Amino acid sequence: MTTELLSKSALQNSEPVFGQMSFDDHEQVVFCNDKDTGLKAIIGIHSTVLGPALGGTRMWQYNNEWEALNDVLRLSRGMTFKAAVTGLNLGGGKAVIIGDAKTQKTPELMKRFGEFIHSLGGKYYTAEDVGMETADMDLIREVTPFVTGISESKGGAGNPSPATAYGVFMGLKAACQFNFGTDSLEGKSVLVQGIGHVGEVLVDHLSQAGARIIIDDINIERLEYISRTYGCSVFEGEDVYSADVDIYAPCALGATINDETIDRLKAKVIAGAANNQLANEDKHGKLLLEKGIVYAPDFLINAGGIINVFAELEGYDKAEIKTKTENIFNTTLEILQHAKINNISSHNAALEIARKRIDQRLRSQKL
Ligand code: NAD
Repeated sequence: MTTELLSKSALQNSEPVFGQMSFDDHEQVVFCNDKDTGLKAIIGIHSTVLGPALGGTRMWQYNNEWEALNDVLRLSRGMTFKAAVTGLNLGGGKAVIIGDAKTQKTPELMKRFGEFIHSLGGKYYTAEDVGMETADMDLIREVTPFVTGISESKGGAGNPSPATAYGVFMGLKAACQFNFGTDSLEGKSVLVQGIGHVGEVLVDHLSQAGARIIIDDINIERLEYISRTYGCSVFEGEDVYSADVDIYAPCALGATINDETIDRLKAKVIAGAANNQLANEDKHGKLLLEKGIVYAPDFLINAGGIINVFAELEGYDKAEIKTKTENIFNTTLEILQHAKINNISSHNAALEIARKRIDQRLRSQKL
């Protein structure tokens, strides 16, 4: 699940945490260990300048602890910029639990993890991510109030994936407006890679908008179910990255835009839910710009989920969540235009806006 693996020499030359390639002045990194439940987790708090660090917990069978650390550092940093660019008063954090969510997750382990979150006194709030369900958040809620994404029946905003998918749909439409001069998806071909919680709802929106959808997943049963339910076709070629489509929507794992894939891409627009889609933000962001591929920054367009969980803290209703998520269309369009005028990558344009907001807050705190 890591997005950029460390080479052997990088491992030898870097210090465990502060010298880690993905370390970006994170405020705090917490290692959680509990022998009785088998819990091994890392909480990464990148920034609390705009508010408490909020970000989901991912449970994944990492190949080694370096991968887990690298993942939590990159993901928590991404959350800081996601909240900032979306205009939310939240900082950036994320947690990873090392282990197989299907076989190693127990209620005791979840609650023990919740106790570690509680010990941070509200500096970090968790939510769902890959390998986690609303039911897990409900268990964590039994031991700490610093958790979002709990069931609607328990007063929460529920599963954030539909809001994430709706935001991605808005960002995708904005990128089409920018590139094709229309946000109509009628007849446009879209490759959706990963048809899980978010991918399925995105497929639903796309099919209602009249797009020609091609799906790809490693889960054959899901492929059969989604193609049957929404009437879309399954990708059958050898190389999914060279699929002849108008739009590529990465909704599985990160780092799919990398040295190996970038020259094979035929899509004119990239807009999807996966976090950290660019293996190297600077390099691959610029290469997409040079190739004339319009890229809707991942951390901007997949913010629907964080809007949904933020609503839980602020007590927003569904209508307000929808309006705020819909606004991703306008923000994406503005950022793509800003990037074009300044001849910078869309990723850097979005980062610039996020950083400006954080710097302003820092300055006002110092006054
Ligand atoms: P999920 O686990 O429900 O779905 C992921 C899907 O991708 C699964 O069906 C899986 O089989 C498939 N997949 C895994 N590896 C693949 C591969 N190599 N090729 C093709 N398919 C593959 O996850 P999700 O909640 O739908 O999230 C999808 C992505 O969006 C993740 O990267 C996640 O971090 C990101 N994201 C999710 C949310 C949210 O609200 N759920 C919010 C922001 C970002």
